[in-house]
Parts: sequence; C-alpha cells; structure tokens
Amino acid sequence: MTREVRGRARESIVALDRAHLWHPYTAADDWEREDPIVVARARGAWIEDVDGTRYLDGNSSWWVSALGHNHPRLVSALRRQSDALCHVALAGTTHEPAAHLARELTAVAPAGLTRAFFTDDGSTAVEAAVKMALQYFRQRGMPEKRRFLALDGAFHGETLAAASLGGIELFRRPFGGVLFDCVRAPLPEEGGHGRAFDALLDLVRSHAHELAAVVVEPLVQGALGMRMYAPALLSELARVARENDVLLVADEVFTGFGRTGPMFACEHAGVTPDLLCLGKALCPLLPLGATLATEAIYDGFRGDRSRAFLYGHTFAGNPLGTAVAREVLAIFRDERVLERGAEIARRIARAFTDLTSAPGVRATRTLGCIGAADLAPAAGGETGMLESSYLGARGWTVYELAKEMGAYLRPLGDTVYVCPPLTIDDDDLDRLLAILDTCVRRTGAMS
Ligand SMILES: *Cc1c(COP(=O)(O)O)cnc(C)c1O
Repeated sequence: MTREVRGRARESIVALDRAHLWHPYTAADDWEREDPIVVARARGAWIEDVDGTRYLDGNSSWWVSALGHNHPRLVSALRRQSDALCHVALAGTTHEPAAHLARELTAVAPAGLTRAFFTDDGSTAVEAAVKMALQYFRQRGMPEKRRFLALDGAFHGETLAAASLGGIELFRRPFGGVLFDCVRAPLPEEGGHGRAFDALLDLVRSHAHELAAVVVEPLVQGALGMRMYAPALLSELARVARENDVLLVADEVFTGFGRTGPMFACEHAGVTPDLLCLGKALCPLLPLGATLATEAIYDGFRGDRSRAFLYGHTFAGNPLGTAVAREVLAIFRDERVLERGAEIARRIARAFTDLTSAPGVRATRTLGCIGAADLAPAAGGETGMLESSYLGARGWTVYELAKEMGAYLRPLGDTVYVCPPLTIDDDDLDRLLAILDTCVRRTGAMS
C-alpha cells in the first residue's frame, strides 16, 4: 500500500471511531482533540500504527501482554484449539483445556489452592470471589458475616460488587447509593508497619463478627498509581484474618504471572489466600478470568443441590481461552520467563533510581517488572491523593512527548510508570527506559 492509501484508511477509521465508538476511561471532549494510535498489528513489545509508525508498549496493553504481543506459541495454540473446538458450555460437559488448566494453575498457585472456577475477566473473577465468600458463611450458619473490608484507593474491577470494593472516590461517585458499603481501611504505609496498618488490623478484629472477607491487591495497588506496601504487612494481615475467621481474597489480576518477581505477589509474603483472583496475563489473547479456591471453601458448597454455587458465566472456561492459558504456563516454564523478569527488574530499578533526583519528580518506586515515578503536579493542579492518579495532568505531558519518541506510556494521572512485557529484549527495554527518562526530565524542566 502506498503511504497515501494508508493515510486514507487511517483517516476513515478515525472518522468512524469519532462518530460511533465510546471508549473506556476516556473523556469525550479529550478524545476529539486526540490523535489516536490506530493500531494495525503488534508483535513482541511493539505496536504498530496503520501508517507504519511503531511504538514500544510501555504497559503491556493495560497489563495483559506479559509475554509480548502475538507470541507465536500463543497464536498457534489458539489456532490449534480453534480447529478442534471453539466453544461449549461447561455444565454437564468438560474438555481437555479446562481440566488440564485447572490442574496446572492450582499446581503453580500458592500451596493449598486446589480448585479453579473460570470466569470471563478480572472483574468477574472478583465478583465470583465475593459471592463465594458470602455463600460460604451463610452455609456455615453465619449469615451475619456478609461485609467486606477493602483498602482506600483499591481497584478490583468494574462490575457492581467489584466496584463496591473499589476505593477510588472518582470511580465510585457516579454509582453512589447503589454500590454496597465496605469497611474501608486506610492505605498501609509504603515503608512498613505504621499507624495506618495498625488501624487496618484493628478494623479486621473489631468487624470480624460481620466480615466475610478482606480483599486486597497484594503488595501493589496498580490502578491507584502503583502504590506499594511491604510483604510483611500482607503476611500479618493474612494471619490476623485467619485468627478472626475472616477470609482473605487476593486480587492478583494485575500482580499475577511474574509481574512483581515471583509467579504471584502472595509468594513474597509466603501467604496462601482463601481465594485468588486472576485475569489479564492469564490469557493475553482473549478474555478469561479465574478464581482459585482452597478445598475448605469448595467443601463449604457440598450437600444438597441448593448448596451449590449457583453462579456461572456463559463463556466460563471456554476452550479457546483455556487452551491459550495453558500455553502461557508452558511458556513460563520453557522460556524461563521469571528469570528473564529478574534481569528486567534490575534494569527498571536502576533507571528509576536515576530518576529519583530528576527535576519535578516527587518519588519513585519499583517492584519486579514495575517502575513508577510520581511527578509534581502542575501549578494549581493539586488533587486529592485518591484522585491524582486520574485527574493529574503531568503524566499526560510525558505521554505526548513519549509518543513522539516512539513509546506508548499511558500514565495514571501524575504517576508515570512502565510495566513492559517480560519478554522484552535488553535493547528495547533500554530504549523504553531512556525515552521515559528524557520525557520526565523535559516535563520537569517545563515547570
Ligand atoms: C484490571 C483489574 C481488574 C479488572 O479486570 P478486567 O479484566 O478489566 O475486568 C481487577 N482487579 C485488578 C487488580 C485489576 O488490575
């Protein structure tokens, strides 16, 4: 195709989009001003515009493409499975990919998680965990245990139960009065044990009689702006929850699959939660979620039919998604993805340490293959801590500059971050980190 033909194709896509497409997490007026990347193809760490311009994908496409885009083994697993069986319900039937994946997932998960319940995506993995916890206590004769404790600034997805757990005020406000009320704990200190963390433990103890579960994003609150807390806090929280007969739900939709170093962030703390939610990198080609449970939880649903978990998504455990997820696990084994992740983590840590003293940078932090920098807000642009990760404008300045330099670095408001594919090579990673460094320093120099 000539450049001119490609240009016309691009224009018509953008025109149709502007006329009819409603984008997630996007303000309509901003969108009309934006010149979007019109993605035609993607491979490895790169996404490519219809016009041929290439961009390094700095956030693995919303934290999904942990193995890079269109990993050839994943694409061929999808192709193979689609020749045999694309879809069948998972009631009265089973199939090889779902049965094997359930076995393989529980084998790599923290010891004690023995059952996999499949859902459509991360939100529904959390939704299922909430309903499992409620029904579990009701069937143990403790129906008063029907509340949840969640953290300030938490993000657990979009369905009503998942959004009820969410603690980012900006996202809750439109649905005020409809979302259920959680016991809300303050953000634990980043450095370690402190007053906020004590308050959290006290809330677990004092509300234990009415709490079904504590729900946390282990170690990293991604959507809040990559806020981090120490593993010791997670293990202490798990202990106090157990002592008080409160379930621990770990939402590893973001942190799972090597993002923080080990396969799951809970491993940093040696914790086995009662329920573990997975999505995103579980299946980078198609939507798929999973809620892993202990045998004790599963046993709570035995007995007559009315005690069954009467909940299920139409596409639960669909053959295509589960076949791809099996291949994900095989790639983690065969290609030593976690070992590669450790080298990526070292480079990210070095780059963000260098950024700490850059003008306009307030703080940086890293864990595994996540690096984040909080930028000082523009004059007059101060927002509350729980809103800055969306309303802050500084990060968008970095975003625009980075785009010109060939990197896609979507910010969380005033927080800029990288969470690249764990398969990115050294040259591409260094290039990504150099672009970030340059753009942050330029943005800082503008203030
Ligand atoms: C993205 C995310 C979700 C929601 O997953 P979806 O697939 O978007 O429904 C839930 N929890 C966490 C921690 C997430 O990062």
